[in-house]
Amino acid sequence: MIDDDTTTAAHTRTNWAGNVTYSASRLAEPTSVDDLQRLVASTPRLTALGSRHSFNTIADTDAVQVTLTGLPPELDVDSDRRVARVAAGLTHAQVAVGLEARGWALANLASLPHISVAGAVATGTHGSGVGNASLAQSVVGLEIVRASGDVEVVGADDPRLDAHRVALGALGVVVAVRLAVEPTYRVAQTVHTGLGWDVVDAQFESIMSAGYSVSMFTGYTDDGIRQIWTKRREDRDDAVIDLAALGAVAGAEPIHPVPGSETAGVTEQGGVPGPWHERLPHFRSSFTPSAGEEIQAEYMVDAADAVPAIQALRRIGDAIAPVLFVSEIRRIAADDAWLAPSSGRDSVAFHFTFRRQTEDVAVALPLIENALAPFGPRPHWGKVAAASPERLHQVYPQLGAFAALARDLDPEGRFRNPFLDRVLG
Ligand SMILES: Cc1cc2nc3c(=O)[nH]c(=O)nc-3n(C[C@H](O)[C@H](O)[C@H](O)COP(=O)(O)OP(=O)(O)OC[C@H]3O[C@@H](n4cnc5c(N)ncnc54)[C@H](O)[C@@H]3O)c2cc1C
Repeated sequence: MIDDDTTTAAHTRTNWAGNVTYSASRLAEPTSVDDLQRLVASTPRLTALGSRHSFNTIADTDAVQVTLTGLPPELDVDSDRRVARVAAGLTHAQVAVGLEARGWALANLASLPHISVAGAVATGTHGSGVGNASLAQSVVGLEIVRASGDVEVVGADDPRLDAHRVALGALGVVVAVRLAVEPTYRVAQTVHTGLGWDVVDAQFESIMSAGYSVSMFTGYTDDGIRQIWTKRREDRDDAVIDLAALGAVAGAEPIHPVPGSETAGVTEQGGVPGPWHERLPHFRSSFTPSAGEEIQAEYMVDAADAVPAIQALRRIGDAIAPVLFVSEIRRIAADDAWLAPSSGRDSVAFHFTFRRQTEDVAVALPLIENALAPFGPRPHWGKVAAASPERLHQVYPQLGAFAALARDLDPEGRFRNPFLDRVLG
């Protein structure tokens, strides 16, 4: 049993957005892997907590939450194999700085670098780019504390790795993640504003291919695409598309995705090259975003359906406008992870940043899910959704096999929580 001084009462703690108050009876904070192993072996039900950036109850429990922030912040690189081994509780910002100092880089990052590595991969978190799969695709191995308390390595040659990459916290507590790395690279970011729907209908895929990572921001209203963020690698010969010739205007001043928001926190724009980790996220690691006044949802459909899916969302644009700050459209390459939202199909992701108005969001979600229904939308595991468990099993064809694996590896349900009980059955 762990000491009392390594636990904290949990009833007043919330997720980052403040829309979920955790129900956990306590938060355990082990300071070594040994402590964590003893905790797992002696606790009937517990759930790993990352950096609290999920918008739903996936990281909550009615029992014990455990954070890894007290574990040593290990980061080592095997240069020959091009693999970094990082402590699971580190954030992508911490890992990026450590890798950059050694001359290495990750293939991609999410919009916010403050998110923990283990928490990000557990939900299939992604950035953008027609050639970039989710962040979990870079995982070539995991070190995981099983229900018995033993540490098991799931390595690159383990046939169960694809099931473990995006594991929703259901298969154990990950203590270290092995990530594929590449030599560091530089990226230049430009932001354009104003692109008409006719251009998007005709050239969606070429616009999304015009950089290593491209994002569009819109409200699905008559003003079309409000912003296009293009991140181009200096070492790649990406296709160049002249957005100005298509009617867009290059931003002269820094621009925030949500008009009127503080621009101090956005990563450098204006085409100024810089290190990968200071351009791939939209937000600077040095800027601590306040606890968000927002709720996010996101759905992934086949990239081949991008244009009809956008047209379907445009038909409900006015209905969701009052509760929507902004929507981001990204491209993600197909993933091998069983539960990645982009598993098995090149995907387009429709992300929604809503005002933190829970009841209005609950009205908007079915509208969006109905609009996207013909395209088999897969909800993001870390964001809010209205989809029933039955619907999740339809759109995630390997969810049943994953549930069986979870039962096999954790027969007593030590890592179950109400979210997993509902989704896995
Ligand atoms: C401002 C903001 C921006 C975002 N941007 C993006 C984006 O660009 N792209 C995107 O795809 N998503 C994005 N997200 C969503 C976010 O990446 C996911 O919700 C992610 O899972 C949060 O990770 P976390 O570390 O906060 O984990 P938590 O929310 O704390 O937990 C999420 C899941 O990870 C599990 N977990 C955490 N640590 C471990 C561990 N050590 N072992 C096993 N399981 C573990 C938990 O049990 C839970 O199932 C964003 C969220 C916010 C708030």
